Amino acid sequence: MKYSTSVLDIIGQTPLVKISNGCSHGGPLILGKLEFFNPGGSIKDRMASHILQKAVKEGKLQKGDTVIDNSSGNTGVAMAMVASVLGLKAIVTVPDKTSKEKIDLIRSYGAEVIITPSDVDHEDPRGCYMTAINMAQKHGYFHMNQYHNQDNVMAHYMTTGPEIWRDTDGKITHFVAGIGTGGTFSGTVRFLKEKNPALMAIAVDPVGSIFAEYIKTRKVGHAGAYKVEGIGSDTVTEALHPQLVDEVITVKDSDAFDTARDLARQEGISVGGSAGGAVWAARKAAEKLDDNAVMIVIVADSGTRYLSKCFNDIWMKEQGFLKETREVL
Ligand code: PMP
Repeated sequence: MKYSTSVLDIIGQTPLVKISNGCSHGGPLILGKLEFFNPGGSIKDRMASHILQKAVKEGKLQKGDTVIDNSSGNTGVAMAMVASVLGLKAIVTVPDKTSKEKIDLIRSYGAEVIITPSDVDHEDPRGCYMTAINMAQKHGYFHMNQYHNQDNVMAHYMTTGPEIWRDTDGKITHFVAGIGTGGTFSGTVRFLKEKNPALMAIAVDPVGSIFAEYIKTRKVGHAGAYKVEGIGSDTVTEALHPQLVDEVITVKDSDAFDTARDLARQEGISVGGSAGGAVWAARKAAEKLDDNAVMIVIVADSGTRYLSKCFNDIWMKEQGFLKETREVL
């Protein structure tokens, strides 16, 4: 018999699948690393499993304890899934722009969800981040602290990076990933650059986020609003190591959503908006590259998490994103 004793053992080892590069002649090979193959449906399974299992091993967490973090949704799902396996209670604070699919999914694992306003400052006590910190302090909960925890970075240094190096036979030349906490980018790139210092690392940031300007100037500007979930930030995070970024490409919501929709319709790969943005950026970078380049793009989660958002024509129309003229029912 061949089986795993825990759902945590089947996290990682996600497949690479070719995605069209959008170039008119030749151009690089673009491979999507499909992180929705993880049991919790996103890249965040790697981090939650690493941080919480390590804390249990170190005696910082025991059965029955409560873990808390703020999340754009996927960390919440991952944390709730891992907590259920390890016998922990989970509380997730999410911004009110988080899709209903993700909120329902977090609750389905038995976790508690606290919905907080998106349109307040990072330091505002009503917001997602401060609510998690204040509750952790007040009740002695374990704060996973994904935005600043270096174990978030380590999870990708130990798994995502080595998998990509192995599966491309060391032929990867370009790595492309959206940055939310920055953990995926920093850990994976640190590993890959140790193997090949010439690797080009491209970070993808939504218009409105502070990361792009911070990476270029180390200055923190004003944050604006954007609809894409999981990437971008209104504050600097310690999980992002900006010195590892060779290029940062900013993406508009409409390009991220259109690309996600096109990938499902034209290539049969249903991806979320952040992956749509990452593929859009990869194709933009691909225009300048020759046939020998091998680009890996992180596809953080699947379109099934956004059926009420960018895959819903009415929502797209309400947001002013729908370009097509076909009738919206
Ligand atoms: N895309 C999605 C959909 C996500 O949920 C996340 C995690 N916030 C990311 C991309 C970015 O990953 P990271 O936090 O490791 O930068």
